[in-house]
Amino acid sequence: MYENNRYLYTPLELTKKLLAFNTINPPGNERECAHFIGDLLQSGGFEVGYYEFDEQRTSLIAVKEFSSDRAPICLSGHIDTVPLGLSEWSVDPFSGEQDDDKIYGRGSADMKGGLAAMITAALRVAEMSGGEAGILLVITAGEENGCEGSEYLAGLGTALGRAGGLIVGEPTGNYPILGHKGAFWLEAVTTGVTAHGSMPEQGDNAIYKAARAITRLEKFDFNVAPHPVLGVPTLNIGTITGGINFNSVPDRTTFGIDIRTIPVQNIDRIHQDLQEYLGEEVELHTLTAAPAVSTQPENEWVKEIFALTEGYIGERPVPRGVSYFTDASALTAAFGDPPTIILGPGEPELAHKTDEYCCISKIEAAAELYFKISKRWCRL
Ligand SMILES: [Zn+2]
Repeated sequence: MYENNRYLYTPLELTKKLLAFNTINPPGNERECAHFIGDLLQSGGFEVGYYEFDEQRTSLIAVKEFSSDRAPICLSGHIDTVPLGLSEWSVDPFSGEQDDDKIYGRGSADMKGGLAAMITAALRVAEMSGGEAGILLVITAGEENGCEGSEYLAGLGTALGRAGGLIVGEPTGNYPILGHKGAFWLEAVTTGVTAHGSMPEQGDNAIYKAARAITRLEKFDFNVAPHPVLGVPTLNIGTITGGINFNSVPDRTTFGIDIRTIPVQNIDRIHQDLQEYLGEEVELHTLTAAPAVSTQPENEWVKEIFALTEGYIGERPVPRGVSYFTDASALTAAFGDPPTIILGPGEPELAHKTDEYCCISKIEAAAELYFKISKRWCRL
């Protein structure tokens, strides 16, 4: 039925098409790109639904089920990219310029190359017949600003459907990664009483309170054993704002605490421990609580993927994790914790950089890998 599908692109052609949509977040504007992808998948036999967490902020869910006996495999990627940055680019970030094995553009590595590889692989699987289970694509908006799109989808209840295994196409150089740390972001607030800067004894300085708290936080001990793959949790103070003018006693200071968690940690417990550690001087407000993701290396599906990947990366993969978080935080939990792998063609060190590029050979290899993994899942 789809042999004459005029919309079928090679992974490279599709990467170029996706790069041409400006989906820099903020503002994102993913709608047009999402509908382009949705039309493509629909013409390949997928059932497609669109979900907007805000105007123009479109995610899509596409499913092709061969049978309902087993849950589908889910491939997931995000449409949005980070801004271009302050340095000038030496190439056009949107036209997909090529040089030997490189295709340049904002989002080529993170992660339109991966998205193109997933979509082309999924279309190839969908045109086969006689399979079992199926293939589900969850393509999100708003990932770069804290996984807004995937969290919205996870909160919709049944919209996501089922998944028995999840692959997120973030840049890993096609290395299969078994999980990542979670992100627990808190805004800390200290308050005081304002007074004239020349009479500080009449005020109560909120910056001193914040400074005391921050100095203590540098030595905060999570008191947990390192995770065998993800290591230890970390804490960083990323922002601080306090005071209105030079010559007043500041009555309010806020600072941002960025904690990266490992699977054994409980968010409420960390919150409670921090509150006790810092005392009543500091108010804590949760901004983001994205759980860590960790898949057992002994899982049969993981072993299968490790074996398949070996031929493409030239080495036997070993269990590894990463410290950044992905849409898997929301999706894995929403799917009821299926085994989850992060695997995509981009090089992690090129993500978010000026003159970002992705190796064309890796995009093609990822498309083959996703195809083989999905084909096996669907017993085709
Ligand atoms: Zn990404």
